[in-house]
Amino acid sequence: MTGIVRIGVEIHCQLTGLNSKLFCKCRGDYRNDLPNRNVCPICTGQPGTMPLLNNKAIDYSCMIALALGCTIPSEMGFYRKNYFYPDLPKNYQITQYDSGGIGSVGSNGKLEFGKEYARIRRIQLEEDPGRLIYEGGDMDTSFYTLVDYNRAGTALVEIVTEPDFKDAATVRAFLNKLTSILEHLGVCNTKLEGSVRCDANISIDNGKRVEIKNVGSFREVEKALNFEIIRQESLSSRNIEIKSETRHWDNERKVTKQSRAKEEEQDYKYFLEPDIPIVLLDKSYLNSIQQTMPELPDKRRTRFVEEYHLSDHVSQVLINNKEMADFFESAVRIYSSPKEIANWLVSDLMSYIGVSKTDETSLTDLKIGPRHIAELAKLVDENSISRHTAKSMLNRILRTGEMPSQLVGQFDSSKIIDEKILTKAIEDTFDSERAAVIDASSNPSVINFLLGKVLKLTKGRADPQIALSLIMDKLNKN
Ligand SMILES: [Zn+2]
Repeated sequence: MTGIVRIGVEIHCQLTGLNSKLFCKCRGDYRNDLPNRNVCPICTGQPGTMPLLNNKAIDYSCMIALALGCTIPSEMGFYRKNYFYPDLPKNYQITQYDSGGIGSVGSNGKLEFGKEYARIRRIQLEEDPGRLIYEGGDMDTSFYTLVDYNRAGTALVEIVTEPDFKDAATVRAFLNKLTSILEHLGVCNTKLEGSVRCDANISIDNGKRVEIKNVGSFREVEKALNFEIIRQESLSSRNIEIKSETRHWDNERKVTKQSRAKEEEQDYKYFLEPDIPIVLLDKSYLNSIQQTMPELPDKRRTRFVEEYHLSDHVSQVLINNKEMADFFESAVRIYSSPKEIANWLVSDLMSYIGVSKTDETSLTDLKIGPRHIAELAKLVDENSISRHTAKSMLNRILRTGEMPSQLVGQFDSSKIIDEKILTKAIEDTFDSERAAVIDASSNPSVINFLLGKVLKLTKGRADPQIALSLIMDKLNKN
């Protein structure tokens, strides 16, 4: 028996496009530093320091709010969310909070994905805490915990949806669309480890809500939700009460488990951050942001259909992955054969970047670039190589990065199907085998002899069927 499932999600995405943290000059990119090197008195909350708001972070978060159709308030403020936890050096997080007309960066939005949509409750700009590293285990089992503040204070946008999802696959589709939007806006490199994180809340038959935290990747979100749906249904079928609780996703064992840490019903004692002035977001500012916003996925898909005459489906597949869509357009600029190039990307290259394997594999990790695919498409279009040969070439190029034109001739299976090349080989054969050509009119088996000679001349690469029909044509004309 399946009850009515209601799922809402809370996504945290880092504004990785920023050079510095949200309130200080420390670098926004903390990933390759030794622990606790990318810190300063401001992001570690030393007494007497003053936060200075990163204006670019406001631009980026407004872009996200606009892209998700949110209402943006004319006055935006920051609040202190007070709680004590080792990853938070100040003992409070600077975040946003809807209170008394001073809002967070966006609310009441909507994101359409395919034929579905989800309502966006709110978007807020806040600082990321530091990272806790559990040595020798997880939160419950580690021997000791280390803290690294390199990440503390980097800019984070929190996107909260209404509980509009009915299953895990729909959540995944939503997250894919959201990822594509963030990538197109250029505000977040979603492929970086930890740059997008997702918490979820889930209830069945209007029962108690269970929060799921600590999910490392979007792929894991789907697994965690599926596990949780089965767990809750199993409990309810046995009339066991579902408790309102926070559960953590155990990535090793692929289960959700109850958190030891109590994380619900906290009194955060929010109050307006006195060190940061209210931010005015007037119409002219928002208009200027709207005008500088890059092309968004939906618009780009429509353009692909109109400009390149691709099907809606193929356009959608390309645009789901911004890197792939960019790769496509670069290749088309080199050699204008959009359908052929799209076909190579969607049916061949896609499987190599492991769309179905890990979320992290990137096109840029491959040795193949737009120039390779453009050249491959051109060689096939010109009949210089067969599609079959081109596919074998692709395999090799992925390993070596060689250009397709360098490889023509090296592939034993590369059949010559170009009629011009074949006709030349046949003419040469006819010239050197005059006696056989004369015999052929009375003895059909000689035709096979001539074909054999053509194959020998082309080192076995002539397409036998095309060569045979050309030989027949030529004999008939003689
Ligand atoms: Zn700092």
